[in-house]
Amino acid sequence: MKHRLFTPGPTPVPEETLLELARPVTYHRSAEAKAILAEVSEDLKYVFQTSNPVFTLTSSGTGGMEAAVANTLATGEKAILCTAGRWGERWRGILKAHAANIVTVEVPYGKAVTPEMLQDALGKHPDAKAVFSTLSETSTGVGHDLEAFGKIVAKTDALLVVDGISGLGAMECRVDAWNIDVCVTGSQKALMLPPGLAFVSVSEKAWKKIDATPIRAFYFDLRRYRKSFAESDTPFTPANTLIKAQRASLKRIREEGIENLWARHGKIAAACRAGVTGMGLKVFAERPNNALTVIAVPPGVDGSGALKKLEKQYGYKLADGQDTLKGTIWRLSHMGYTDAFEVLGAISALELVLLESGVRFEPGAGVAAFQRSYATK
Ligand SMILES: *Cc1c(COP(=O)(O)O)cnc(C)c1O
Repeated sequence: MKHRLFTPGPTPVPEETLLELARPVTYHRSAEAKAILAEVSEDLKYVFQTSNPVFTLTSSGTGGMEAAVANTLATGEKAILCTAGRWGERWRGILKAHAANIVTVEVPYGKAVTPEMLQDALGKHPDAKAVFSTLSETSTGVGHDLEAFGKIVAKTDALLVVDGISGLGAMECRVDAWNIDVCVTGSQKALMLPPGLAFVSVSEKAWKKIDATPIRAFYFDLRRYRKSFAESDTPFTPANTLIKAQRASLKRIREEGIENLWARHGKIAAACRAGVTGMGLKVFAERPNNALTVIAVPPGVDGSGALKKLEKQYGYKLADGQDTLKGTIWRLSHMGYTDAFEVLGAISALELVLLESGVRFEPGAGVAAFQRSYATK
């Protein structure tokens, strides 16, 4: 059986990138390594849509998030946390570990934090030093209006810090134009690489705050990265095999063009949502994003059991809900190296499992709705 990965991280990796990973390991302090890092850093600026530097850290995405917190906040400083799910809660965990004074703006799972809510919180807490938010809340499929958040935060002294880990490279995100001060992503979501690298952009406004904040990190001290990256070097031994491979995946994005890539994800996501509703199911997110589709498990169906069947019988690996959402949602990723027809295949396999589970609808209803949407947009 052919195994197909539809989890919202890790995601499938293109063949040319996998081949790069099969090559011999080379020394990381060499002219060649510097040239590769310089190229990757330039291409990342393009993906982030920023003219500021983007640093590559050897860690998973969470390491980039921790770097963002440790560098921008001093102990006890106030931070506004916008949370709509598990990844917002990841920010909370990091902020707590770094002894921030947290003001929480929270919505139930499936809903999105609105710009009005953020505006209100900033009005009440003018002493907040930073706002932490999530572009694509991968636990629920919600996307946040970061453009609107950016407009609001830019009028204050606070920094806008964004976890773009599953959204960046799948949905529109313009770091500079949207006034995002620190944006973090990871390699294993839309950037088509295995897990292992985090990427962090830092604005001028953020540097001012960072330079005025006591040093609270060693490995994740962004000042060290600024210094090394100015010479296309890294402060510590980087995962250089991954950086080389990332170059190959970034070339793919360059060739497609970032706006075409956003549009392609948008078209696939719209068709996927149409397929879901075509089967009579519901999309879980109130404001769905284009990186993944989160499907509410219909009543009477064993959600976790159905996913196991989908994998065992048809080779499709989707992700279950996390924590309290386990068994109640299915998460289907269409970010990165995943095309429309693979997603169509996933919809068709899901139809079969649902029909076997006794859910009643016309076989092919989801597939037809997907096709109709894909054909017309
Ligand atoms: C996957 C993910 C993370 C966690 O990243 P790790 O690479 O597992 O550390 C954080 N935030 C979002 C939105 C994610 O999708």
